[in-house]
Amino acid sequence: MPESKANTDIYEELRELKDVLTVAQVVVSSLDLDEVLQNILVSAMAIMEMPAGSIALYDEESSRLELHAHAGLSESFTSKERWLVKEGGLTYEILDRGDLFVVEDTEAAEFFNNPLAIEEGIRCLIAVPLKIQNKIVGILYLDDFKTRKFQESRLRILNILGSFASMSVDNARLHEQAQVLATTDGLTGLYNHRQFKLMIKEEIARSRRYEKDLGLIMFDIDDFKQFNDSFGHANGDRALVVISDVLKRTLRKSDVSFRYGGEEFVVMLPETGLTPTIDAAERIATAIREESTRFFSDLNSQPITISGGVAVYPEDGENDQELFKIVDDMLYEAKRSGKDRILHTGK
Ligand code: GH3
Ligand code: MG
Ligand code: MG
Repeated sequence: MPESKANTDIYEELRELKDVLTVAQVVVSSLDLDEVLQNILVSAMAIMEMPAGSIALYDEESSRLELHAHAGLSESFTSKERWLVKEGGLTYEILDRGDLFVVEDTEAAEFFNNPLAIEEGIRCLIAVPLKIQNKIVGILYLDDFKTRKFQESRLRILNILGSFASMSVDNARLHEQAQVLATTDGLTGLYNHRQFKLMIKEEIARSRRYEKDLGLIMFDIDDFKQFNDSFGHANGDRALVVISDVLKRTLRKSDVSFRYGGEEFVVMLPETGLTPTIDAAERIATAIREESTRFFSDLNSQPITISGGVAVYPEDGENDQELFKIVDDMLYEAKRSGKDRILHTGK
């Protein structure tokens, strides 16, 4: 190889390496997945000198793609944020092939049959499947409005950018999973004790700011040790799940439930005064009684009952500690006075 040619190649490779490093810096600098994907997309467009593109993430279960980044495309083309993979279409073809591929002229590709994409005037495209451990999690598309040909070396770089995008998706998902593990209880899926401590403070601050009431319920299963002893720990666990389902079903969307301890639950009801909070607690108690009877009908068990305390911000307390002391005292009093009841300061 003549020396000047070799030099040109080296310079070209160095330039490519620099491009890749620039993108890598962007990838590690943000935790916001969509921001990272947008940056990767813009870099990929610049490297391939393509005027348009998008990144969509794929949900295998529903066979749907969801748009997470786009540039250079019309509003009508990008207004559809989710779409189903159709057999015989472009996305189906990309998922089926599983590797980067180029359509130099879309008019010559029969699977390029989406009316919106045709109307958009896309004449050439590169599709890079984004993979995590060999599973496709998304697609990076680069588009041009005229037919094109591409250098192999540029496509290799694009593949590297694709793997950056995959890693970002993987990171975001791991982060999300870690977040779920740290804030919720594995058995019931309800928020945990630690999350309650954080959220009650925030919710009281919000209620204070907007001058709203905040209802608080704490309840504990009656004679749960006996239930475990009679029917086994596995059934005890099932009972806890039945109760968490009751909470999810009986409460409003804005109410938040927590598994505070082993068989103790707390519910936070924003913008709710004393009477509706008591009503909610009674509704929960009735539903637990009914649901447990239905669910454990073959055990011949007594219905599961609960004892609970209710308190309301601001009447019963100005801060989380004051409110919590009231619900705890009320719960204790409910147990002491015979169980299967909900008590509050006014009763
Ligand atoms: P009380 O009416 O006074 O509340 O009596 P209790 O038997 O419910 O209360 P106690 O505090 O004596 O016992 C609580 C029981 O809850 C004992 C424990 O085994 C059970 N428990 C706590 N967490 C779990 C759990 O995750 N699964 C199961 N199966 N049982 C649990
Ligand atoms: Mg108990
Ligand atoms: Mg208890």
